Amino acid sequence: MASYAMTLSPAHFGGKSELGACSLFSPSIIAHKCRRQASNKIRAVMSPTQSQRTPSTTGSVKHAMTMTEKILSRASERSQLEPGENVWVNIDVLMTHDVCGPGTIGIFKREFGENAKVWDREKIVIIPDHYIFTSDERANRNVDILRDFCMEQNIKYFYDIKDLGNFKANPDYKGVCHIALAQEGHCRPGEVLLGTDSHTCNAGAFGQFATGIGNTDAGFVMGAGKLLLKVPPTLRFILDGEMPDYLLAKDLILQIIGEISVSGATYKSMEFIGSTVESLSMEERMTLCNMVVEAGGKNGVVPADKTTFKYLEDKTTMDFEPVYSDGNARFIQDYKFDVSKLEPLVAKPHSPDNRALARECKDVKIDRVYIGSCTGGKTEDFLAAAKVFLASGKKVKVPTFLVPATQKVWMDLYGLPVPGSGGKTCSQIFEEAGCDTPASPNCGACLGGPRDTYARMNEPKVCVSTTNRNFPGRMGHKEGQIYLASPYTAAASALTGFVTDPREFLH
Ligand code: SF4
Repeated sequence: MASYAMTLSPAHFGGKSELGACSLFSPSIIAHKCRRQASNKIRAVMSPTQSQRTPSTTGSVKHAMTMTEKILSRASERSQLEPGENVWVNIDVLMTHDVCGPGTIGIFKREFGENAKVWDREKIVIIPDHYIFTSDERANRNVDILRDFCMEQNIKYFYDIKDLGNFKANPDYKGVCHIALAQEGHCRPGEVLLGTDSHTCNAGAFGQFATGIGNTDAGFVMGAGKLLLKVPPTLRFILDGEMPDYLLAKDLILQIIGEISVSGATYKSMEFIGSTVESLSMEERMTLCNMVVEAGGKNGVVPADKTTFKYLEDKTTMDFEPVYSDGNARFIQDYKFDVSKLEPLVAKPHSPDNRALARECKDVKIDRVYIGSCTGGKTEDFLAAAKVFLASGKKVKVPTFLVPATQKVWMDLYGLPVPGSGGKTCSQIFEEAGCDTPASPNCGACLGGPRDTYARMNEPKVCVSTTNRNFPGRMGHKEGQIYLASPYTAAASALTGFVTDPREFLH
């Protein structure tokens, strides 16, 4: 297929900046840093042991930094950082869930002691979400372990579920961790969020440094509140042009991963800018950042702006300080896209970089459609699917499974009117189109899960899915075939029983 990416020459490293240390930060950080420098200077004058004069230029040459470098710089209490440096980073939020939480807790107790206390009960967020609605005893036991630990440690943010028969009877229960983190105000610009899940990078949509870590690292963070991290270099993705009304952010990230491959951003930060990115909603920015790990990315970031601040208005009362890349920051490579020329895409089995135009796959017969997950199970994802069903006025030709990411999303499906529908909700439109009733919010079959997981692929089926991975066995059966797609393309495919370009119904 034609490619619209243009690789620009790598920006030069090592260019000296005229900026002083304070100008690297936002005004309140400037004030903070400047106060600290002044205080250090007084101590130096007063101390006879520090009277030896050092060259006046030492420490005065500063380099411009990217957003990611600045966030890590502040979190490590350093005025300057270089990609490749290893630094101790203070963590703002640690998230774990039912799959990795028990292992993390075990490591924390082994290394810090049976009676140890976590470093900060208000900075740890524990979210059961993966294997919830199952009769699998080991899966249920994992949630019990989380509950016992949260009671013992008085963890403030534990989104518990006890009644598996009716998720609505659990007011604390949220659903998929990455969307719950955003909806509950734990994603804040300029901060550092670590989670025991590879899609923790989702929170980069808020201009936060967010990345997945293993249980051993998480166990250490639980006790110490910090972690040794290597500063990643940054790739920059400049997305400009008017977004056609048949595209969604899922198409953009599939385009990018197809362009750079599943290893194209290994241990690199991916920064997204440009007029198209600025026009995206927070949920769409999440879709973009959610999948950076599918290109090997350490993290993804979108600069915080008025859209970010608006989203956060009713979600957090905590202060946060966004940071932005300096104009002359060092990016190892720029990729530029004219979004107005892109077409709906899929990632064919069995890799997220196996990119193809949806219309090129129109002969691929499918058995089912799955709309859900942290990538494609948000309110706007379902509104997009409903728009296609509404425009077609037809019924689906294959089983179509709907798994809202969170309890809030589930409520939106039953309460929000779909634009242009005369007041119908998503749930009404889905019912009229013959879809399955929206399931209880959780990760569902995105990760396969225990055999009794709703919509799990227990047989070798062909599925169009709004999830983020299509490796063999990902949704259950190792011979299953998964086509990753946007909610528009997934809904259009459900209506025909073949992989389908959504323009067939949207125009
Ligand atoms: S929805 Fe899927 S990708 Fe997202 S956290 Fe759950 S299992 Fe992982």
